[in-house]
Amino acid sequence: MKRTLRSARDLAAAGLVTPARAAEITPVEARYSVAVTPAMAALIAAGAEDVAAQYLPDPAELVTAPHELDDPTADAPFTPIKGVVHRYPDRALLKPLLACPVYCRFCFRREAVGADGGLLTEAELEAALDWFARTPAVREVILTGGDPLILSPRRFAHILARLSAIPHVELLRIHSRVPVAEPSRVTPELLAALTLETPLYLCVHANAAAEFTPEAGAALRALHGAGLVLLGQSVLLRGVNDTEAALEALFRTMLRHRVKPYYLHQLDPAPGTARFHVPEAEGLALLARLRGRVTGLSWPAYVREWPEGGGKYPLGMPAMQPGAGHPRRSG
Ligand code: SF4
Repeated sequence: MKRTLRSARDLAAAGLVTPARAAEITPVEARYSVAVTPAMAALIAAGAEDVAAQYLPDPAELVTAPHELDDPTADAPFTPIKGVVHRYPDRALLKPLLACPVYCRFCFRREAVGADGGLLTEAELEAALDWFARTPAVREVILTGGDPLILSPRRFAHILARLSAIPHVELLRIHSRVPVAEPSRVTPELLAALTLETPLYLCVHANAAAEFTPEAGAALRALHGAGLVLLGQSVLLRGVNDTEAALEALFRTMLRHRVKPYYLHQLDPAPGTARFHVPEAEGLALLARLRGRVTGLSWPAYVREWPEGGGKYPLGMPAMQPGAGHPRRSG
C-alpha cells in the first residue's frame, strides 16, 4: 500500500474490509472523512485490531446519542479570530488547517476536520498571527488542527518563525499524529523547520503500542535529536486500550521512544462515538491497578473536559470548580 486509503472502496480494494462491510460503511464516508495511511493500513492488514478500531469507519457513527455534541470542547465560543481558540489566560490554540493524515473515528473535532482541509488563507493566517502578537497574556502557542505537521515545511517554518519572534511567546507546542501515523512526513526539511531557539514541545497522539512501528521510532528519534521535547497524549478507548495490559504496553512503549506520557483523555462526547466510551470509574480503576507496577515516569494525567468549554480537569483529584482560575469566564 503506497497511498492513503480514503474511501470504503479503497479499504475493500486493500483487503482491510470485506465488500459487504464496505457497502455498510459507505454512508459513513459521506458524513465523516476517511483516511488510513500506508503505515496504519499495514498494521491493520497484519491483524492489529486496536489500530483497526481507531481508523476503520463503522455504521454506528451515524447514530448520535442524546448526550453527544457537535462541538464537545466548545471551541466556537472561545474563538476571538478565525483559527484561534483562547480558553485559558496564558495559552491559546492556533489551528492553521483542519485536515489530518488519518481520521480517527472518535475524533472530538470530527464535525470540523476533514479532507476539504479548512486551510487558513494567507490573510486569515496573518490575522491570526497578528492576534498572538498583540495578546501579551499568551505565553504558549499550541499548534493543532487538524494536524499542523501535514503543512508544507516552508509554510510551517514561516508560522514558527513568526511566533518565535513574538517576545511574550515563551513556548510552542504542536499536537500531531504524524510521527506515528505517517512517519514518512518527518523529512530533513521538516526537521529543519522545527529546529528553533524557542522551546518546542511535540505532543504525539497515539493510543496503542502497535502504532510505534520501526519507522515511527526513527521519526521520533530524529525529532528528539532536533531538540523537541516529546510528550504523549492518548484517549481511553473501548476496544483499543481499555485493559491494564494495553495501557501498560502503550505507556512503556512511549517511554522507550523518548515520549513522556502526558495526558490520558476521557473520550469527548462527539457524535457517533459512543462505542468507544469507557466510564470514568473504570478508567480510574485501571490506572489504580497500574500504579506501582509501572514507573512513575509513565504516569499521565487522566483528564476530561468540562462541558461548554470549561477546560480540562484531572480525574481522581479533589473536586474542582469548572475553569477554576479562568479570568475570561467561570468555565
Ligand atoms: S488526528 Fe486529531 S484532529 Fe485529526 S482526526 Fe484524529 S483526533 Fe481528530
